[in-house]
Amino acid sequence: MIVILKRNAGDEQVQRVVSAIERAGFTAHVSRGEERTIIGAIGTSPQMRPHLMEVFGGLPFVDRVVAVLKPYKLVSMEARAERSVVEVGGVPVGPGHFTVIAGPCAVESEEQVLAAARAVKEAGARMLRGGAYKPRTSPYDFQGMGEEGLKLLAAARAETGLPVVTEARRPQHIEKVVQHADAIQIGARNMQNFDLLTEAGQSGMPVVLKRGLAATVEEWLKAAEYIASVGNPNIILCERGVRTFEQALRFTQDLAIIPLVKELSHLPVIVDPSHASGKRSIVPAVCRAALGAGADGLLVEVHPDPDNALCDAAQQLRPEQFAGLMAQIRKLAAVMGLAV
Ligand code: PEP
Ligand code: MN
Repeated sequence: MIVILKRNAGDEQVQRVVSAIERAGFTAHVSRGEERTIIGAIGTSPQMRPHLMEVFGGLPFVDRVVAVLKPYKLVSMEARAERSVVEVGGVPVGPGHFTVIAGPCAVESEEQVLAAARAVKEAGARMLRGGAYKPRTSPYDFQGMGEEGLKLLAAARAETGLPVVTEARRPQHIEKVVQHADAIQIGARNMQNFDLLTEAGQSGMPVVLKRGLAATVEEWLKAAEYIASVGNPNIILCERGVRTFEQALRFTQDLAIIPLVKELSHLPVIVDPSHASGKRSIVPAVCRAALGAGADGLLVEVHPDPDNALCDAAQQLRPEQFAGLMAQIRKLAAVMGLAV
């Protein structure tokens, strides 16, 4: 249930509603927008709802009370005064921006990650990606450099100033990622690893939540709710392709879901065209389409020497391809009134 206050309601009134919610045994989540404040009452039972709606609805500074019937509540559009902006190391993801996060699939060496970081920074990316704990389909494939890789990412940030997004594969990885990086990536294969989601939520650090390979939108938003429910609203959703009958590309990029998710949730949504397509010649077109579909940004794989990459060699862009793509993105984003 959410309580939407009138425009002129002040701190004292917010506190009155919060106290009343807590006295009734529920948890209150306050969302302060520029226009108005919305207070969520989490844990209300259907039996209690009519009574609470009457009590809150009768207060002079309350505009209206709405029952959120969706299974995800804190991340739903109804629960917020406006769309969220998630800041990662000072870089905004959300309305008014088209934020490009780029870098190699995996950190492989100091030389490789620094070359990638310099190239993506020069081309205009705002954040660096790179995996140190890789989720690989085969146990015999390169599993990532672990903490050594995180330190190299931190060194790349120190040189370029780009905030770092990197994956935590297990709950135990979160602490290390928090120590060295700026945002925790939850991989597609872990979207429903509820212990990992809770741990990421409790860290308070921004989370990039990939959509599972076969996850419905509702399952994806419920996974986001796990993170939000322990007090972390800093969630960026990432559509990275889903499995369909089609085998021509690695996965099927579900771009129509972008405007839908933006109707259902206030969270920013970005697109990963690299894992969806699996093929570098396809990536730039999907990036342009993602911008057109209303995505808030991209997560793109770029490698200084993709032919010799230790994973995902076929899909990582060459630095010069990425620079060309960014030049196009800047022009298109300007037409749409977005800062890149
Ligand atoms: C990645 O971004 O490096 C990755 C492994 O992606 P996904 O979890 O979407 O497969
Ligand atoms: Mn990859």
